[in-house]
Amino acid sequence: MRYESCYDDACSIRDWIVERRRTLHRFPELMYEEVQTSRLVRQTLDELEIPYRYPLAETGVLATIGDGKGPTVALRADMDALPIHEEADISFRSEHDGKMHACGHDCHTAMLLGAARLLKQREDEIHGTVKLLFQPAEEGGAGGQRMRDEGALDDPPVQRIFGLHVWPQLPVGSVGSRTGVFLAAAGGVEMTVRGQGGHAAMPHRAVDPVSVAAKIVNELQTIVSRELDPLNSGVVSITAIHGGDAYNVIPETVQMRGTVRALSMEGLLHIQRRVREIAAHVAEAHRCEVQTSFPGNDYPPTVNDADCWSLAKQLAGELTSPDRVHELDAVMGGEDFAFYTEQIPGCFVAIGVRNEQQGAIFNVHHPKFKVDEDALPLGTALHVGFAMNSLDQLREHA
Ligand SMILES: [Zn+2]
Ligand SMILES: [Zn+2]
Repeated sequence: MRYESCYDDACSIRDWIVERRRTLHRFPELMYEEVQTSRLVRQTLDELEIPYRYPLAETGVLATIGDGKGPTVALRADMDALPIHEEADISFRSEHDGKMHACGHDCHTAMLLGAARLLKQREDEIHGTVKLLFQPAEEGGAGGQRMRDEGALDDPPVQRIFGLHVWPQLPVGSVGSRTGVFLAAAGGVEMTVRGQGGHAAMPHRAVDPVSVAAKIVNELQTIVSRELDPLNSGVVSITAIHGGDAYNVIPETVQMRGTVRALSMEGLLHIQRRVREIAAHVAEAHRCEVQTSFPGNDYPPTVNDADCWSLAKQLAGELTSPDRVHELDAVMGGEDFAFYTEQIPGCFVAIGVRNEQQGAIFNVHHPKFKVDEDALPLGTALHVGFAMNSLDQLREHA
């Protein structure tokens, strides 16, 4: 690799990256409300004299570095936080009550800002264009889809895209991913079971939606266990049930919510169809009605390109060591990076943040989620390497 020094360069600006990450961490913002976050990104780009387009997808920022000729590579970070009250044992805890960067998107944004700074320093070596995507609303808002639809991958057309995600299952200093489907196609489900309310002492004068809701939850379990190929996985999880208030009243309705996931879009559509059919027939058999909907945004599966993962793997091995680069199994988490890889080749790469000594052992979306910040300069170096090595490769193949 021609850019070995990028890890040393990233380590030399470690404090600068960490400071930005901690500021972002203290002021988390939910999807499409990333106003302060987006402002910090733009202020930093202004200081670095990097031009950008704003806004895309409400709060998104699209920065450009390079000579504007030749191949184009994109690097992506997401900016949104989660509606979780932080309980992590850190000095820079969230100051926005009930909101937390529990998925590490503060780290993603800071690592990409670090890469922006290093790439700008090397701009005369960049023969081509590097686009930096700071996107909103990964956590269910499909911000990636909106960035794509608003032209983030066009003009000049992007040929490859890379994204990083902090990975609490991997120790700090490690990197992992895989070729093909890495993350699942995922979406939400909502159901309302409608019966007929009444006195709980006279169930024969009512139609009880509670027992029917319970039957529906149980019957849905057979979709994955009895209908899917065991080697082609899926998930049906009902995660919330609400109905009734009193011990002696049969309620009129029961509301349920959950998530459905599969490793392909066809798989997801199949599960959705079966959820709808089974719920309707179970309800009908017991004199209830059910409304099933799949609201919000269905994310396609995140599919990694073989060449992009091979480049990332080699780079990560050179920056750390080959035994710290891992072939991972696919996971059923969803990720809206998928909207980019639907259109162009790319790779979504996991970067280890686990450190038992620091108590960085909790999974993402946990109120005590914490990262070892030694991962940040490595992430910055990976971004720089993804871009520079890809531009070299694309020019050779042109
Ligand atoms: Zn998340
Ligand atoms: Zn995330």
